[in-house]
Amino acid sequence: MEEIYYNSTRGSNENLTSASAILKGIAGDGGLFIPNCFPFISKRELKNCEKMSFKQLSLYINKKFFTDFSERELKNCIDRAYDNKFEGNAAAPLNKKGDVFYLELFHGPTMAFKDIALCLLPYLMKTAARKRNLNKTIVILTATSGDTGKAALESFADVEGTKIVVFFPEKGVSSIQKRQMTTQIGENVKVVGINGNFDDAQKEVKRIFNDVELKRELNRGSYMFSSANSINIGRLIPQIVYYFYSYMQLLRVKEIKLGEKINFAVPTGNFGNILAAYYSKKMGLPVNKLLCASNENKVLCDFFNSGIYDANRKFFVTISPSMDILMSSNLERFIYDISGKNASAVRELMGNLDKFRKYEIGDNIKEGMDLFYGNLATDEETKQSIKEVFDKHGYLMDPHTSVAYSVYKKYLQDTGDGTKTVIVSTASPFKFTRAVMGALDNRYNSEDDFKLVKLMSRAAGIEIPKPMKKLDGCKVMHDTVCETGQMETEVRKFLSERCHC
Ligand SMILES: *Cc1c(COP(=O)(O)O)cnc(C)c1O
Repeated sequence: MEEIYYNSTRGSNENLTSASAILKGIAGDGGLFIPNCFPFISKRELKNCEKMSFKQLSLYINKKFFTDFSERELKNCIDRAYDNKFEGNAAAPLNKKGDVFYLELFHGPTMAFKDIALCLLPYLMKTAARKRNLNKTIVILTATSGDTGKAALESFADVEGTKIVVFFPEKGVSSIQKRQMTTQIGENVKVVGINGNFDDAQKEVKRIFNDVELKRELNRGSYMFSSANSINIGRLIPQIVYYFYSYMQLLRVKEIKLGEKINFAVPTGNFGNILAAYYSKKMGLPVNKLLCASNENKVLCDFFNSGIYDANRKFFVTISPSMDILMSSNLERFIYDISGKNASAVRELMGNLDKFRKYEIGDNIKEGMDLFYGNLATDEETKQSIKEVFDKHGYLMDPHTSVAYSVYKKYLQDTGDGTKTVIVSTASPFKFTRAVMGALDNRYNSEDDFKLVKLMSRAAGIEIPKPMKKLDGCKVMHDTVCETGQMETEVRKFLSERCHC
């Protein structure tokens, strides 16, 4: 098998092994790591994948990228990540309702798709640290729009040799998301609300990462930073697995024939999830279209329709908060790819983004965007779809999934394309009870999120998910709120508290 190395989208040729890239998180020049090539899975190989379990497929695909890990090491990580933490032991079941297939990625410990990659990441990191003979404490710095935070906390809590700090927008997450994070227990965790949105948090985290002075101090204290955001390649690659897995499930139930193309509709914020879909296509998965679904923060939708990325616009707090993002980090990897691995073009565009919050890509690279269809759903449309699907099929979508579904409906209207379509279902409706129940009936709009949990369970005839039950009666452990300018201070405080005791 070919060895894979990781380099920056901005050109510095670090040629890192996957272990080093996972530990480092972000490239030294501020760019993102990308593999030097993409392994291809032939039609014959696809056929062989048909009968694989999720874990087997996960090993099969991750092995192609993490070539410096031994098969035993990877298998060990995967076995420990995907155990009975997932309800029904199913990480990515496919559920057909009406004409579409819902790829339910929310049966993990925090009820969002981020669990799938984040359950695996700590094991990858620990194995990587062992391989590199690293005896530093890994400090995970995470900015979250709501779901990454809890998923990362849950997976890194009390993991030896790690500490984790999560920053979330104090006023930009659902009450259930907030409760999930602020009640997190663990000796090595810290959760901080910030007065700002996700973009502010992400930008500051990236700055802290590359602060030379702080890095030197950390080194002295035997610490090193890493990232659990989808800028980390160890988070991104494991997400490729479920795209292949959904295809195998369709094959198994004979909904499609081998080689037949399918569409994916993906609710998109930081462009991590849909980038994994794009990578799957590059690797040979038969994909017809990728539907990039935005909420009212429709910067990506506009980008795919115009080639102009413009973050100079009003920021909306919507009912799909995990997509309330104007600076989509992972788009940089996509641009790198469609520009023909042109790092200097990426540097220039990202420079423009930094300076003007805006850039325009040249006509020569626009071709690469043809695979995508970009559209949006307003909060009103998102609610209508939740109600429509519930009334027709008795199936409850969460608001993010509903954004994807709504965009799929628009796509159908625009194109009449009859290709089988998978709606990537990124969160459990139980994480957003008020928005979801409010969509079914206005009278729930003023109710408390927690009160609505039972009502939702009864209305939809589904059991309350275990992680939701657990949340009841948890004590709030974290109540710090700070300005973005104080994030670094909070990190320093946390690290010094712990090392002097
Ligand atoms: C994070 C998240 C998204 C957006 O995914 P990206 O990889 O950031 O594009 C969509 N839905 C939910 C529920 C999420 O948690």
